Amino acid sequence: MFQTSIVRSTSAEGVGLHTGVYGHIRLVPAPADTGIVFRRIDLDNFPIEAQGHNVARVSYATSLMKQGVLLSTTEHLLAAIYSCGVDNIFIDIDSIEVPILDGSAEPFMQMLEHAGIRRLRRKRRYLKVLQPLEVVEGDPGNPGQVRRIGIYPANEFHVRCYVDFPHPLVGQQEVEMVVNPQTFRHLLARARTFCFERDIEPLRSMGLIRGGSLENAIVLTNDGVMNGPLRFPDEFGRHKALDLIGDLALAGLPLLARVEAHKAGHALHTQLVSRLLADPSLWTIATEDSMHSGLETGLAALAAPAAD
Ligand SMILES: [Zn+2]
Repeated sequence: MFQTSIVRSTSAEGVGLHTGVYGHIRLVPAPADTGIVFRRIDLDNFPIEAQGHNVARVSYATSLMKQGVLLSTTEHLLAAIYSCGVDNIFIDIDSIEVPILDGSAEPFMQMLEHAGIRRLRRKRRYLKVLQPLEVVEGDPGNPGQVRRIGIYPANEFHVRCYVDFPHPLVGQQEVEMVVNPQTFRHLLARARTFCFERDIEPLRSMGLIRGGSLENAIVLTNDGVMNGPLRFPDEFGRHKALDLIGDLALAGLPLLARVEAHKAGHALHTQLVSRLLADPSLWTIATEDSMHSGLETGLAALAAPAAD
C-alpha cells in the first residue's frame, strides 16, 4: 500500500459556522510524507499541521493553533480527507475558520472526487495501536453517568460511536463501522451538524454560531425539527461519528485501531489522540510489509497440521 495525494487542486468557499467569517479553501496536491497541512494564505502561507500537538481550544468545534495562529472547525473536512485515505494534502485557507458549507462532509467529498486521488511512490505508514487506552470523565448533565472514549488494538480502522440526547427524535443512537471511503460516503458523509433551539441564544452570547443558519445546521425544537426533513432518521448519531473520525485524523497517520466513543465529544476525542501520541509504548509505526509478515506468521500457525 502506497501513500496518496490528490491529482489536481479544487476550491470551495463559504461562511464559518462559529466566527461567521467568509473564507475560501483550496485543496492542493502535496508530496509524500507531508501529511495533512493547513496553510493560512492570508498569513504568508503559515503552516498548521493537522496533528494532535496543534490542538487548541476544543468545545463546540475542534480548533488548531500553532504559534498563536488559530484555525477553527477542522473536523468535517478532516473526516472526509482521512476517510478517503488521502495521506498528503495542503489545505490553503484565507480565514480563521473552515467554511461550514451545508454542515456535513458531503461537499468536501465532492471536492475530493473532483480532485481525484493519486498513488505516490512512498510506502504508506500506519499508526498501529498495541495497547488499549481509555479516557473517562463525569457527565456534567447527568450525575453518576460518564462520558468515555477508548482505543484498542485492531487490524483495521473501526469506530463505534454511541450518543444519548434526551429528545424525541434523538435518544440513543449508535453507529459502528469499519472506516473506508465507501462506508464513510454511504453512512456518514451526508449527516449534518445540529443544535438545539434552546441553545442558540446562549451560544450566540458566547460568540459562537455567528455563521449558523437553517441552511447549515439542523435545529431541534423541543419536540421536533425546525428545518426538516432529516437525511437519515439517526442523522445525529451519524454526525457525531463523522466528528469523531475528523478528530481522530489528528493522529497524523492512518490508524489501525478500534475506537469506541460513549457520549464523548471533541474534548474527549482530542484528549484521547493527545494521550495516545504522548505515550509511544502504546503504538508502533507499521507499513503494509511489516503487517503482512505478521499476518503470514499467523497464517502459518493456522496452517500447521493439527495434532490428533
Ligand atoms: Zn460536526
